[in-house]
Amino acid sequence: MQLPKEEKTFVMVKPDGVQKGLIGEIIKRFEQRDLKIVALQMFQASLEEVDGHYPKDEKWIRRLGEKTLATYEKSGRNIDDVEKDFGTTDLAKVGVTVRGWLITYVASSPMVKMVVQGVHAVDMVRKLVGPTMPSLAEVGTIRGDYSTDSAISANVEKRAVFNLAHASETPEEAAHEIEYWFGKQPIFTYKRFGVDA
Ligand code: GDP
Ligand code: MG
Repeated sequence: MQLPKEEKTFVMVKPDGVQKGLIGEIIKRFEQRDLKIVALQMFQASLEEVDGHYPKDEKWIRRLGEKTLATYEKSGRNIDDVEKDFGTTDLAKVGVTVRGWLITYVASSPMVKMVVQGVHAVDMVRKLVGPTMPSLAEVGTIRGDYSTDSAISANVEKRAVFNLAHASETPEEAAHEIEYWFGKQPIFTYKRFGVDA
């Protein structure tokens, strides 16, 4: 029989999550789902460090721009509105702009970083955190329960969407981010009572 897949993933409580007093609530959501916190620290990242955390490749940046356009379209706006807010319709340029806002925001104040381990941890944690845009996040997810920001106001105010937490999207992203943020720090091993054999 094939055993269920045990994985590690990376989570950061972003500045708004820390400032709203949600560190404990966010950790609780993972622990109550039998996920295990195997590394944990409060820290403040420099702009350079955050720049190295978010991918820089053309594909990721374009995807961020495409996601931005998709958000406009979902709220009945279109590429002309993107041009009004960003001064361009080039989605790669839009992606670069949003990435810049994101870096400024994430480096602005202390955060909490952690490694979360468990069966299908990458997908499970993404599900518990909820989708990027607070208005699309279901009630019951961290973003759906506690974040109320709108992409439209964020774009007009030239800042990232405040959505409480970052969580790796794929096992590859998780491996990169765990190495990046915890490469020189210990990741612990222990048994969860009543969960691990
Ligand atoms: P995540 O993995 O769900 O956090 O989402 P992404 O990796 O696509 O984007 C990274 C972060 O960029 C998000 O968490 C938001 O803070 C921010 N962001 C994403 N899309 C937009 C957007 O369209 N406008 C603005 N202002 N910020 C965005
Ligand atoms: Mg992401």
